[in-house]
Order: sequence, then C-alpha cells, then structure tokens
Amino acid sequence: MEEIRKSIRTIPDFPKEGIMFRDITTLLNTPKAFKKTMDYFMIRYKGRKIDKIVGIESRGFIFGGALAYLLGVGFVPIRKKGKLPGDKTSVTYDLEYGTDTVEVHTDAISPGENVLVIDDLIATGGTCLAACQLIENLGGKIVECAFLVDLPELKGTEKLKNKGYDIFSLVDFEGD
Ligand code: AMP
Repeated sequence: MEEIRKSIRTIPDFPKEGIMFRDITTLLNTPKAFKKTMDYFMIRYKGRKIDKIVGIESRGFIFGGALAYLLGVGFVPIRKKGKLPGDKTSVTYDLEYGTDTVEVHTDAISPGENVLVIDDLIATGGTCLAACQLIENLGGKIVECAFLVDLPELKGTEKLKNKGYDIFSLVDFEGD
C-alpha cells in the first residue's frame, strides 16, 4: 500500500488556499502503482454480485472504467450538469459555497441492479451521497462505495457509514 501512497502527489493550496490537493495523475503515470491499485479493487470485488459500476466524474471514470473491464460488467458515468445527452435524472447537493448538480441517464440502471460506486477520493462525502441518491432513484442497490483515497479529517466516510452505506478505501491522507 505504501507504493500506492507514495505515487500520489500532494499539491498545497490547489485549487484554493488551504486545500491539500491529492493528485492521482502521478499514480496513473506509474504503471506498477496503477496496476497494484486495480489489482486490489479487482480482488475485492470479483465474485461479488455486481451488475454495474458507477464512476463519478471525472477521475472516477478512470478507475471505474478499468474495473468494469476487469470484472466484465457495465460502466455508468455520473456527470456534472449538462453533459449527458439522453433522458436523465439529477440531484443537487450543497457545497461549502453554493450547490452542485450531478446527473445520470435514466436507462443506465434498472430497478434491482447491484451497483458499485467508485471515485478517486472521498472528502466530505457530499458527491458520493448525491451519486448514491441518483442510483437509488432509479431503483439500484448500492453494494459498496470504493475510493482510492480517504481524507478522514473531512468525515465523509463517517457520514456515509452513518447512512448505512459500506465504504472501502485503499489509502488515507491526514494533515500534510
Ligand atoms: P466530497 O464531495 O467533498 O467528498 O469531494 C469529493 C470529490 O472532490 C472527489 O471527486 C475528489 O476528486 C474531489 N476532491 C475533494 N477534495 C480533494 C482533495 N483534497 N484532493 C483531490 N481531490 C479532491
């Protein structure tokens, strides 16, 4: 796990002052670390009853797409407002300042399907919670929400667990 952790670069004060941005592009550009990451996810989820993998825009597409390929299941993108061309449903959630809206195609998930949610990182959990609401609005059942990185100080994992969701992450970052 240390190899994965070390391959993630931290950029202070991006996109604004006080944020320690955990940049996974350096992991993607390190083949051994990217492979190890995908192997951990594959080992955890192969054999589980999963019909769809939902990736959250935009870095969730990279890990979600690779995992869907490895598990031989469908991939569904959850996108920011205005990007999906077909019939869609949306959920709006609060940010520190203002709100954000995420969308999914209404025909992408059928009632009763088992769905794994994946993103690169969980911070406050707001994005993931909105994604779970979208999936449940379509009748999907959340198997688990998986992340490469957890920022425990921001309590997103705690918030989602309190709402009854199972959460899995490969590495934690605290402070610097
Ligand atoms: P949240 O909704 O607060 O859990 O934020 C999660 C989303 O914001 C993920 O899609 C992350 O890619 C991104 N994000 C939030 N905080 C950071 C951070 N410190 N470093 C990198 N990405 C972040």
